[in-house]
Amino acid sequence: MTRRVDLRSDTVTQPTQAMRDAMAVAVVGDDGYNEDPTIRALEDRFAALVGKEAAVFVPTGVMGNQIAVRILTNPGDLVIAGRGQHVVSFEMGAAARNSSIQFATVDDTSGALDLRDVLDIIDAEDDHQPHVAMVSIENTHMPSGGTPLDVADITALARAIGERPLHLDGARLFNAVVATGTSAAAYAAPATTVMTCLSKGLCAPAGSLLAGPAGLIERGRVERKRLGGAMRQAGFLAAAGLVALDEMVDRLAEDHARARILAGLFATAFPEVDYDPASCRTNIVAFNHPQARQLVEELAVLGVDGGTVGPRRARFVTHAGVSDDDVTFVAEVLARFKPTLR
Ligand SMILES: *Cc1c(COP(=O)(O)O)cnc(C)c1O
Repeated sequence: MTRRVDLRSDTVTQPTQAMRDAMAVAVVGDDGYNEDPTIRALEDRFAALVGKEAAVFVPTGVMGNQIAVRILTNPGDLVIAGRGQHVVSFEMGAAARNSSIQFATVDDTSGALDLRDVLDIIDAEDDHQPHVAMVSIENTHMPSGGTPLDVADITALARAIGERPLHLDGARLFNAVVATGTSAAAYAAPATTVMTCLSKGLCAPAGSLLAGPAGLIERGRVERKRLGGAMRQAGFLAAAGLVALDEMVDRLAEDHARARILAGLFATAFPEVDYDPASCRTNIVAFNHPQARQLVEELAVLGVDGGTVGPRRARFVTHAGVSDDDVTFVAEVLARFKPTLR
């Protein structure tokens, strides 16, 4: 059998033995009655980590984002977000469906939003545009290649939008923390709500968290119920989540180091695409290629599984299931790779 290295996503990670052990002995209860001590412990742990009053455990990151939009907007409102953000482009239009909002998208090629673009949209409110209810940012920003945001930029954005709430989609917040040394609380401070995923680089089998002011998170629990996301003895999942937050954050540095090596290998293999490996600062290698889909298909035949962020953007993600040996294997594949691209 051909060897395979799975670089499709960090969501393919398996729970660790410590997680399996914690799950086996987790004390659980009916979270519908707020009686699952393990879920409550996880919610409290995350709220403390990001310096917020409260947090709510949700099945997925998408639901965390969707609840944030529900509690921060009214139907008909405008939400400013980067064009490539998950909440805009990767959630099946859920925000329009669930919250009847409209997105005003701005360029986010670099990961961050340009303050002037955001302010221009807010300025148009005086005319005949709907109310701008909130702004959403993503850290790390996936489509730009897992770019960690600069906390000073987030603070400046929060200040510029005044009373309007800021949502931080921090699905990979801890990758940003490890890459920059900025704490999760410092990153979250300018934001009203912050979401993170336990099931990506942190290796938990499922689960995400949304944190913010206590009153808002209470409303978030109602929206979670409405979306069908209130679970019962889900403390088994929360037990793995606690291990994820306690033991799996520092390890992300290994994913970043391997991604950086892969970035160099891809840059060398495809000099025509003008990809700067130094732009890879966390666990995602992403570069434009006119035939990204075919490139990914042809590499898969050779045992290197990747993905695309769009028809012309290839993506390769490192995670706990990718070893140094795997990186060497990818190097060998790329060294003899002759694309038959049409
Ligand atoms: C993965 C991801 C999500 C959604 O997480 P799921 O748990 O897959 O629903 C949201 N935002 C970003 C930036 C992501 O990468």
